[in-house]
Amino acid sequence: MKQYDYLIVGAGLFGAVFAHEAKKAGKKCLVVDKRDHIAGNIYTEAVEGINVHRYGAHIFHTNNKAVWQYVNQFAEFNRYTNSPVANYHGQIYNLPFNMNTFNKMWGVVTPAEAKAKIEEQKKEAGITDPQNLEEQAISLVGTDIYEKLIKGYTGKQWGRPCTELPAFIIKRLPVRFTYDNNYFNALYQGIPNGGYTAMVENMLEGTEVRLNVDYLADREALNALAEDPTLWDRYGSSDGLLYTPQRIASDPAYRETLALFEKRGMAVQYRIAQLLTAPTLRLFGLAELLAEAVREKPAARSGTEAETPELFAENGRWGYRTAERVVVAPLYDNGFDFTEGLAAVQLGGTWHYIDTAGRTRLSCPGCAAVKPFRGGKAQVVRNGRRIGIDRAGTEYPVAENEFAI
Ligand SMILES: Cc1cc2nc3c(=O)[nH]c(=O)nc-3n(C[C@H](O)[C@H](O)[C@H](O)COP(=O)(O)OP(=O)(O)OC[C@H]3O[C@@H](n4cnc5c(N)ncnc54)[C@H](O)[C@@H]3O)c2cc1C
Repeated sequence: MKQYDYLIVGAGLFGAVFAHEAKKAGKKCLVVDKRDHIAGNIYTEAVEGINVHRYGAHIFHTNNKAVWQYVNQFAEFNRYTNSPVANYHGQIYNLPFNMNTFNKMWGVVTPAEAKAKIEEQKKEAGITDPQNLEEQAISLVGTDIYEKLIKGYTGKQWGRPCTELPAFIIKRLPVRFTYDNNYFNALYQGIPNGGYTAMVENMLEGTEVRLNVDYLADREALNALAEDPTLWDRYGSSDGLLYTPQRIASDPAYRETLALFEKRGMAVQYRIAQLLTAPTLRLFGLAELLAEAVREKPAARSGTEAETPELFAENGRWGYRTAERVVVAPLYDNGFDFTEGLAAVQLGGTWHYIDTAGRTRLSCPGCAAVKPFRGGKAQVVRNGRRIGIDRAGTEYPVAENEFAI
């Protein structure tokens, strides 16, 4: 008989919830963390009476009553409502964009006036086929909002100008035509009064925690302590998630729940939902989570659409994935969506066109810029000249007015 039932790597929210539930189910856990503190990225430290969020501000927010009640067992939450403001050269604007923002920006008072202003600016810009994030944003909300509230912020976040970011990053920009500064639509939100560290401490009460321990540096010895291999060892091949790809493939309800959370950027709920599939533990709220997923079931995608991989970014590089799997790992410096079965990608300064299986179909050495294929042809800039190429790479001249934006 081994000393522990479970070895849990990481004393963040995920590890702490797991440890708490395992303990409740009569299991003994050892939690290790390579940092010198518990709570992972939600760690807060008291500095001159203020709970400073060391790794970035965290506001707990959820629509799920069970999740809210669950975290409230461990901490009392304040009534914080996230209502950020942007400082643009000394002018203060409310975010997300709402009637308060529009009133400050244009002096408009009614939703109709604000809508008319946005439409007027969109029309003036005249962008019908946005080719980068700047064009996409202007085509969605007009020039003023883009220049003052999107351009600088987004460029800083991504570490490159909006003109060099693909349009797909923002499919839509939520614009509210009410006087409501609340950032989240979630029913429940707040920050624990005593900070997140105290909340996680309560979750871990009665569980042994060892800090400054890197699991990867001492894997075998640590594994030998617990009956169960770590979740990492058991599910390592499935990216550390608590399910096997096979199981998820045969379980549409779980898939829908996870997809829903992922889509909404609900990271904590996403991880808790993953926990629900843990082999030995039964967690709270499954019925509600599934009910929500079913209510918001995404419209079925057509065969062709489902097979077209979608561009995604990870660690500043671009890859392609379908709903089911990653088709091309993130390895490109730049990329476009697929059009006509081909996507333009940039690698080490050279542009290529790849097919939906990730094979290079056409290379474009010396091209400074390229456009997606349309009508069997793509426009590229080579040696400072705009030319057209077809799918075989044959070049042809193009009239100046043939060029889109
Ligand atoms: C700036 C920022 C703001 C955010 N804001 C919000 C928000 O407002 N609301 C929200 O819901 N979510 C927010 N999130 C997301 C939230 O931080 C995470 O979803 C949540 O903290 C994840 O918890 P976790 O336990 O899965 O991972 P983590 O908190 O990352 O914990 C993982 C732990 O594992 C440890 N570890 C990793 N490898 C090893 C190893 N080899 N050996 C030992 N230990 C190891 C790490 O040291 C870490 O402590 C934000 C994230 C960031 C970065």
